[in-house]
Amino acid sequence: MTGGSWSSSNMATTLLCRANVISSLKTFCRTYGVSTIRGAHTASEFPSKVKIVEVGPRDGLQNEKTLVPTNVKIEFINKLSHSGHRCVEVTSFVSPKWVPQMADHTEVVQGIQRVSGVTYPVLTPNLKGFEAAVSAGCDEVAIFGAASETFSQKNINCSISESLERFQAVVKAAQEKGVKVRGYVSCVCGCPYEGSVDPKAVAKVALAMYQMGCYEISLGDTIGVGTPGCIKRMLEEVMNVLPAEVLAVHCHDTYGQALANILTAVQMGVSVVDASVAGLGGCPYARGASGNVATEDVVYMLHGLQIHTGVDLDKLIEAGNYICQALQRPNMSKVSCARSK
Ligand SMILES: [Zn+2]
Repeated sequence: MTGGSWSSSNMATTLLCRANVISSLKTFCRTYGVSTIRGAHTASEFPSKVKIVEVGPRDGLQNEKTLVPTNVKIEFINKLSHSGHRCVEVTSFVSPKWVPQMADHTEVVQGIQRVSGVTYPVLTPNLKGFEAAVSAGCDEVAIFGAASETFSQKNINCSISESLERFQAVVKAAQEKGVKVRGYVSCVCGCPYEGSVDPKAVAKVALAMYQMGCYEISLGDTIGVGTPGCIKRMLEEVMNVLPAEVLAVHCHDTYGQALANILTAVQMGVSVVDASVAGLGGCPYARGASGNVATEDVVYMLHGLQIHTGVDLDKLIEAGNYICQALQRPNMSKVSCARSK
C-alpha cells in the first residue's frame, strides 16, 4: 500500500531528524560543558520524599544569646509538630554550666504535646546526659562527634577516638533500653582550627558511628564554609562506605552556600536534611553569623522540585515568626520574609 510506505518512510525521516537533534544537542553539551542530556531523567534522580529534621529548638536556640522562657519553647515546639514535621530535635542534655539556654531540658521534654508519628530526639553528649534524658521520658537521642581532631578537643574536650569510646557507652545503654540513636559528624567540610577537612576522615568517623549502632549519620558543615564541590567530594567518600539511605546533611549558611549544598546532596540521593526554622542559631547581628539554613527556604526549594516533605509551609512560617518575635530578632528565612511582607 502506497499510504503505508509513505507513512513508514515519513516516520524514518522523523526518527532520523530526532537522532540528528539529539546528536547536535550532545555536541552542544560537550562544547559548553553541560554534562549530559537528561530531560525527564533528571527528575528521577531526586528522591520523591525528603525528611526534614527540625533542629531549631536545639541547635538554633542553643546559639541564641536571649534566654527563652520554657513555656515559649514548649509552644514553639508544639507549633513545629503541627506544621507537619516528622522529627523535631527538642533540647540538649548538657550541663547548664556550658549551655544555660538548655538548662530546662527536662521541663521542655515533659511539657510538649507529642504528636503521633513525630520523633523528638535530644542531644546527649555522654552517659550522664543520656540517663537524665531517659528519666525525662526521651525515646530518641543524638550524639555529636567531629571529623576534625582539634575541633573535637576544643568542643567536647577529648580526641576523636576518645569521643567514640564515650559514644559507645551511650549507644550500648540506649540499645539496652530500646532508645534510637542518631549520630552527628561535625566539620565535614572545614574546621575553624584546621581549615579544610579530609573527606576520608569524615568517612572514617561516619562509619565508626554507624557500626556502633547509630541508625542515621548527619554530616554537618558546622561552620558553613562548604561549597557544592566540597559536599560532593565528601559525600562520594562517605558513600563508599555507607549507603545514602542512612545519611543526612546539616548545612550552615555562613557563606550563603547552604541551599546549593543541600541540592547537591539531595541530587546524590540523600533524603534527610537538617534545618532550623527562621535560620535560628548564630547571631544575626554579628559579622560572619553562622546560622543554620532556614527550614522555610529548604521546604520551598524541595516543594519546587516536587519533592514531598509533609510540611505545611504557612504553618512553618508562623512557627518561625512566633520564635523570632519572642527573641526580638529578625527572621533569617528569605521565604518567610517574602511571604510575610
Ligand atoms: Zn547546626
